[in-house]
Amino acid sequence: MYQVGHFIGGKHVAGTSGQTQPIYNPATGEIQGEVSLASAAELNAAVENAKAAQPKWAATNPQRRARVFIKFVELLNQHMDELAALLSREHGKTIEDAKGDIVRGLEVCEFVIGIPHLSKSEFTEGAGPNIDMYSIRQPVGIGAGITPFNFPGMIPMWMFAPAIACGNAFILKPSERDPSVPIRLAELMIEAGLPAGILNVVNGDKAAVDGLLTHPDIGGISFVGSTPIARYVYGTAAMNGKRAQCFGGAKNHMIIMPDADLDQAANALMGAGYGSAGERCMAISVAVPVGEETANRLIEKLTPMVESLRIGPYTDDKADMGPVITKAARERILGLIDKGVEEGAKLVVDGRGFKLQGYENGYFVGGCLFDNVTPEMDIYKTEIFGPVLSVVRAKNYEEALSLPMKHEYGNGVAIFTRDGDAARDFASRINIGMVGINVPIPVPLAYHSFGGWKASAFGDLNQHGTDAIKFWTRTKTVTSRWPSGIKSGAEFVMPTMK
Ligand code: NAD
Repeated sequence: MYQVGHFIGGKHVAGTSGQTQPIYNPATGEIQGEVSLASAAELNAAVENAKAAQPKWAATNPQRRARVFIKFVELLNQHMDELAALLSREHGKTIEDAKGDIVRGLEVCEFVIGIPHLSKSEFTEGAGPNIDMYSIRQPVGIGAGITPFNFPGMIPMWMFAPAIACGNAFILKPSERDPSVPIRLAELMIEAGLPAGILNVVNGDKAAVDGLLTHPDIGGISFVGSTPIARYVYGTAAMNGKRAQCFGGAKNHMIIMPDADLDQAANALMGAGYGSAGERCMAISVAVPVGEETANRLIEKLTPMVESLRIGPYTDDKADMGPVITKAARERILGLIDKGVEEGAKLVVDGRGFKLQGYENGYFVGGCLFDNVTPEMDIYKTEIFGPVLSVVRAKNYEEALSLPMKHEYGNGVAIFTRDGDAARDFASRINIGMVGINVPIPVPLAYHSFGGWKASAFGDLNQHGTDAIKFWTRTKTVTSRWPSGIKSGAEFVMPTMK
């Protein structure tokens, strides 16, 4: 049994609220540790620390701030195996997948090494007689990030890397289910040269989140998690005068046109549907083959592949996927599968009875494949967040296109085709934030930005890319006149550009 407290002012701080929550090993169902849940007083202490450290950090020139990230990237690479094992032990995903989780965050740290260039701003010489006008981007002050369980490495780094590079201090409130990697990242940031107090990790639940949302010294809130909480965080942050970017759930469709390479499409669906046990916000959970023949051939190809998925604990280096995160998540997923059967969908591969010898108490769900799913069914409308792929058959391209268009969520979508015209039309008309063309999980790289549309995201600036630099800074615009304007005396009419 290990204890996870907080990381405040560059040090480990034990929780004092008396409130804790167990940390499970999802592969065995055993309690392996305990995480402290912060009280309002503990949260305030973290904010005070951040507040004291931030002005000096903001005044540190951007090249020096960048150097911390140069060193941090080096440390992440050195500690990759250790970080991946720490991550898998609490999350349950395979070690290789955990490395992907770290690497996608590391890439954002690489991106922000360019902060001296990224934070340059606009200047107009001679905007009027002897007048120069320039805009500067200054840090928002203290930023806060609230992150989900499914990417405990990548998503904290999506947030703290640009925020800190821009000169902010940061309070990270990670998921209470897998809190160890975020704490380790904060330790490594200190080792990389970050001053104490600039990155603080406060563990907790709703009470800690509410503390952040209402704290007068927090300038910006970044949230990633489920849609109901994203909506709540967005509204509460806005009510409290804070900028907020809040990312929610998803139901990502993949359209398979009759001319697609079906082997390629089936392989793509396996990775995108079942990788990480379907617990990715960019997982494909709905396959839409166009035409009966495409659908029949696709089901024929997918069935043996889903049946032969290798499911195991993270210590099995040949496993395709691991368990889901909690007992409650497993029960919820199984309940939704039962509902799908009741509603009349055809469960072609039934993973409900899956058991792994030696891991009978683990939170495993076998791969499931549904055919003949329709838009009225719960399994279509709800984000299942488990290893369940639903096939919805479409008669033609327009019907296929209309499905993701009408869905509540709008995170990612993909089309598999050999026809450039169909792909181009699809990318142009679809109302979804991230589009893949023969790419099943179109997660943008660090120098582009990540974000969905509709109920998958609230707020107007995305994660990473230049959007993140805008989100974590405020614009100040300076109009200056030297010196003849002073000599010319006072003006009493509204100044206009003469
Ligand atoms: P979650 O919404 O349960 O939790 C996310 C965070 O919110 C956690 O830190 C949690 O402590 C906090 N939280 C939970 N309940 C709260 C409440 N009532 N008030 C305030 N804070 C609360 O999400 P999760 O189960 O950890 O993650 C899975 C979800 O995240 C899925 O819906 C998935 O699609 C989504 N997700 C979205 C993206 C994206 O970029 N759009 C990326 C990853 C995950």
